[in-house]
Amino acid sequence: MRFATQAIHAGQEPDPTTGATIVPIYQTSTYTQEGIGRHKGYEYSRTGNPTRTALEECLAALEEGKHALAFASGLAAATAVLSILRPGDHVVAAEDLYGGTYRLFEQVLARQNIEFTYVDGRDASTFATSVRPHTRLLWVETPSNPLLRLVDIPAVAQIAHAAGSLLVVDNTFATPFLQQPLKLGADAVVHSTTKYLSGHSDVVGGAVVTSDEEVAAWVRFYQNAAGAVPGPFDCWLTLRGLKTLPVRMRQHGENALQVARFLRGQSMVEEVIYPGFSGHPQHDLVQRQMRGAGGMVTFRIRGGKDAADHFFQALRVFSYAESLGAVESLACYPCAMTHGSIPEGDRQRRGLGDGTIRLSVGLEDADDLIADLAAGLRAADRQLAGSTSETVGVGEK
Ligand SMILES: *Cc1c(COP(=O)(O)O)cnc(C)c1O
Repeated sequence: MRFATQAIHAGQEPDPTTGATIVPIYQTSTYTQEGIGRHKGYEYSRTGNPTRTALEECLAALEEGKHALAFASGLAAATAVLSILRPGDHVVAAEDLYGGTYRLFEQVLARQNIEFTYVDGRDASTFATSVRPHTRLLWVETPSNPLLRLVDIPAVAQIAHAAGSLLVVDNTFATPFLQQPLKLGADAVVHSTTKYLSGHSDVVGGAVVTSDEEVAAWVRFYQNAAGAVPGPFDCWLTLRGLKTLPVRMRQHGENALQVARFLRGQSMVEEVIYPGFSGHPQHDLVQRQMRGAGGMVTFRIRGGKDAADHFFQALRVFSYAESLGAVESLACYPCAMTHGSIPEGDRQRRGLGDGTIRLSVGLEDADDLIADLAAGLRAADRQLAGSTSETVGVGEK
């Protein structure tokens, strides 16, 4: 079956006991067993829960992987895959990473004597020159957060396998609707299901998807052994979100393109980064490995942090908030929010200047979104001009 059908039906047969069409929220911690060693496949909800099973089967189907394991957050899912590593192991990661992933690498795993090398993911050959005898894992996000840089998944998969390591792709930004890393050669996919997969800013969750039996067996063991599992209601919300993933992703892409085009024509905007532009430096790769450019748009505002602050304060439709991928539009300031845990020097070196603004373009009417951004840019422009005249802004609030 095709993607949109799987999104609605995979793992979601009518409930065998009642016929309930929608998978019930099995809000139970334990299961009454028939006798010693005799039960219906469930014993305790850390180990397994039918609502979670439905979510895991649906996620596996959408990524075209054999196994999916759900976790309590995207970072819990990342931790589960990374628990494959042992002291002395080395990881090569594309440097334009989600700040929380970087913090997990540098402040948690580095204490366990695991070493990290960061490379410019846009150039696949940098992975080849950075692998060492103890390199066990290559980690990439594509498109990356927040600069929307791409990593050539097939090329990096080849380098990983030649070096005897695994390639893990954080597919949170693209979702399997736009990109299926396992089909492109990756060994495992990690998701923050908090974002597009659930899609409504009402749940935190994560998942690992893989077709590699060894990775699956370990992550399944770790899921139960370490215990960062999502509750049944969170699984149910995520399943509900998945049903509309294809329609949402199409509309996110359409709205984002309109917003990006608008921003490109504004004098307050120094640069607009959107992989859907034919002028995006990696547009060829976008067309080779993605089915669309997605709903994230990053731009640099003239005037740095002060201008950005006025821009955010003038917004009425966009929420100034962390996170992404939901029906409501969000505007974020990576330097203080998602990437606040990265030291300033590192941020600057990675191209994250203090005028950088990241938009998660939602599903509101695109004209309303554009009018809102226009008001934000006017406010920033006034700030830059040093004018605080009240009359200029009449009618905007
Ligand atoms: C949000 C996010 C994460 C972390 O997920 P949580 O659900 O917040 O733990 C990891 N990677 C990317 C790309 C993200 O956007």
